[in-house]
Amino acid sequence: MFDNLSTKLDRAFKTLKGQGSITEINVAQTIKEVRRALVDADVNYKVAKTVTDKIKDEAMGRDVLIAVSPGQLMVKIVHEELTELMGGEKQDIQIKGDPAVILIAGLQGSGKTTFTGKLANYLKKQNRNVLVAACDVYRPAAIDQLKVLAEQVGVEAYTEPDNKNPLQIAQNAIAYAKTNNKKVVIVDTAGRLAVDEAMMREIAQLKDVLKPTETLFVVDSMTGQDAVNTAKTFNDRINFDGVVLTKLDGDSRGGAALSIRAVVEKPIKFISTGEKMEALDLFYPDRMAQRILGMGDVISLVERAQQTFDEEEARRINQKIRKNQFNFDDFLSQLEQIKKMGDIKDLVSMIPGVGKAMKDVEIDENAFKPIEAIIKSMTKDERANPDMISGSRRNRIAKGSGTNIQQVNNLMKQFNDMRKMMKNMNKLTGKGGALSKMK
Ligand code: GDP
Repeated sequence: MFDNLSTKLDRAFKTLKGQGSITEINVAQTIKEVRRALVDADVNYKVAKTVTDKIKDEAMGRDVLIAVSPGQLMVKIVHEELTELMGGEKQDIQIKGDPAVILIAGLQGSGKTTFTGKLANYLKKQNRNVLVAACDVYRPAAIDQLKVLAEQVGVEAYTEPDNKNPLQIAQNAIAYAKTNNKKVVIVDTAGRLAVDEAMMREIAQLKDVLKPTETLFVVDSMTGQDAVNTAKTFNDRINFDGVVLTKLDGDSRGGAALSIRAVVEKPIKFISTGEKMEALDLFYPDRMAQRILGMGDVISLVERAQQTFDEEEARRINQKIRKNQFNFDDFLSQLEQIKKMGDIKDLVSMIPGVGKAMKDVEIDENAFKPIEAIIKSMTKDERANPDMISGSRRNRIAKGSGTNIQQVNNLMKQFNDMRKMMKNMNKLTGKGGALSKMK
């Protein structure tokens, strides 16, 4: 995401390269380039102008004798201004009340139902007892879609398939939450393909009566300037508390992130970067600005990993490695964990340097499939005791998994090499080992 913008900014800064200081003359061209890059990235023209004027003032005021190149200094200034433009500090959602009610609004197809599932997952991981309420009574598939997602993340869904009154369903869901010890109710509502009065009336009424702690407006970042206009229309009518930007994994030029905050003066609270339930991140303005400038987003990467990886499981596996007991069950469990981390490409794009280089490289997630098939074709005993997997067993496993003997042999070799390496590490770091003091 944001490739366009960061590449263009890159070029803009190049015009400053090799110059000794920032002056009125050499900054003018760069500022023009930066403004064009922002507008091309779908940033509202007025917003782009305000930012670049500020950048210019900042740049001109800076002491040019410090030990950085004017280009580096400009990157820093642009980073600061973009951060500021996107709200400065991150803003989490408010969970208050018993139950706390979170109302989800937005156009049809913006990603409301998907986000409802993701938010439920996110809050459940904070040990909150969550109920999702299906109040999209117009799109028949929406109720089932929410039910499936709820089941997938392990929360309960409240539905009334025959009731056509969203307000009533929401109120019944809240009553149900009260008697069933649910602490958060997320209300998924109906959207339309475009803004229309009936939808606005409905969402406004839901907000008036339910008095949610948070009303979140969900918007598809791929829709560019329309996203900003829709945000403005919704905000004028329902005065929402925060924005969720979806589909930032796609081709989105990202201008929406930059403009929405400036135009509606409401914080972006979450970004959604894929269809998997884990592909949700809090919105950090400074990190997003870094990402726009191609500096990567390592902190988000690490946080996502921490959230997704099961620490208990990690400890258990660590113990097994230490005792030289790592087996195929553990290997499979590790593969599952990696897969849960969401789109691999999406994660790779967060690594500074690598992200840009990898942007056109296709990563084949299917590469895991034969490995999984092979391990799953082993018997329980074989997985627990890999040493017993002889030649004839390998033949059987290859047949059972729909792979061939070579693939099975390869996996066995890799697995044994890995175990050897683990053993050697244990020797080095174990009692009396050369690295034992470093533990
Ligand atoms: P709703 O009509 O607002 O409830 O929208 P949905 O949740 O049904 O989403 C519409 C489509 O967008 C579905 O196909 C989702 O799988 C997809 N979608 C939602 N969020 C994301 C996202 O962050 N990235 C991508 N790539 N697709 C998404």
